Amino acid sequence: MEYLPQANRVARGKEVADQILATGKDVVIIGGGDTGADCLGTAIRQKAKSVTQLEIMPTPTQQRPTGQPWPTYPMTYRVSSAHEEGGERVYAVNTSAFVGDNGGVSHLRVSDVSMVDGRFTPVDGTERDISAQLVLLAMGFTGPERTAIDELGLETDARGNIARNDSYETNVPGVFVCGDAGRGQSLIVWAIAEGRSAANGADAYLSGSSKLPRPIPPTARPMAV
Ligand SMILES: Cc1cc2nc3c(=O)[nH]c(=O)nc-3n(C[C@H](O)[C@H](O)[C@H](O)COP(=O)(O)OP(=O)(O)OC[C@H]3O[C@@H](n4cnc5c(N)ncnc54)[C@H](O)[C@@H]3O)c2cc1C
Repeated sequence: MEYLPQANRVARGKEVADQILATGKDVVIIGGGDTGADCLGTAIRQKAKSVTQLEIMPTPTQQRPTGQPWPTYPMTYRVSSAHEEGGERVYAVNTSAFVGDNGGVSHLRVSDVSMVDGRFTPVDGTERDISAQLVLLAMGFTGPERTAIDELGLETDARGNIARNDSYETNVPGVFVCGDAGRGQSLIVWAIAEGRSAANGADAYLSGSSKLPRPIPPTARPMAV
C-alpha cells in the first residue's frame, strides 16, 4: 500500500517525490495473491530486471478442489492479466532472512516448505538465496485498523473483524460496519452491496423502517454474528 498508490498517481500524470521504483532491480514479491499480482504487473511496467513472486502455499490445482464445491470461490491456479506480462511465480516457499548491508537488501534467503503437524516447515537442503534489491510485502489483510475499534469499544469476531448483526449494526447502538472492516478481506462488489445494505440498517435505526435497497438479504450474509 506504499508502492501501488504511488504508481497509480504517476500513471495519472501526478508527481510523486521519492517514488519507490522497480526499474533495473531484481524484485521479489512475498505473497501470491491479487495484491502480489498488482505489484508484479507494476514492477514489470517499471522495467524491473527480474520479478519473482513467492507464495507459501503449494501450487493450486487447475480444477476446483473437491472440498470447495460451488458456490464457494475455488482456490485454483489462476493467470491474471499481470501474470501474462511476465515474472516468475514460486510456490511452497518461505523466507527466512533478508540479506544485505548498509541498510539495503541484496538477497532473500528462502527454503521450500511442506506442511508438518500443521506448520510450514523448511525442507532440508532447499535453502537458497534469491537476488533482490526491492522486496514488496503483499501477504494479505490482517484485520481492520484498531484505533476506532478500541476507542468506540467495538466487539470483533474470531478473525479480528468488527462484529455486527444482520442489520450491520455493531454492539454499540447506532454504529454500523460494512465492507472489509466487517467482512474481512474481500472485493469491491461486496463492499458496495454491504454499504447499501448497511445504509438500509442505519435508515431503519433512525426512522423505524427503511425502503432503501438491501442487496444482501440477512440469510445471504455468511459472516453474520
Ligand atoms: C492492492 C489491492 C488490490 C485490490 N484489487 C482488487 C480488485 O482488483 N478487485 C476487487 O474487487 N477488489 C480488490 N481489492 C479489494 C478492495 O479494494 C476492497 O475489498 C475494498 O476496497 C473494500 O472496501 P471498503 O469500503 O470496505 O474498505 P476500504 O476501501 O479500505 O475503505 C475504508 C476507508 O475507511 C477509511 N478509514 C479508516 N479508518 C477510518 C476512521 N477511523 N475514520 C474515517 N475513515 C476511516 C480508510 O482511509 C479508507 O478510505 C484490492 C485490495 C488491495 C489492497
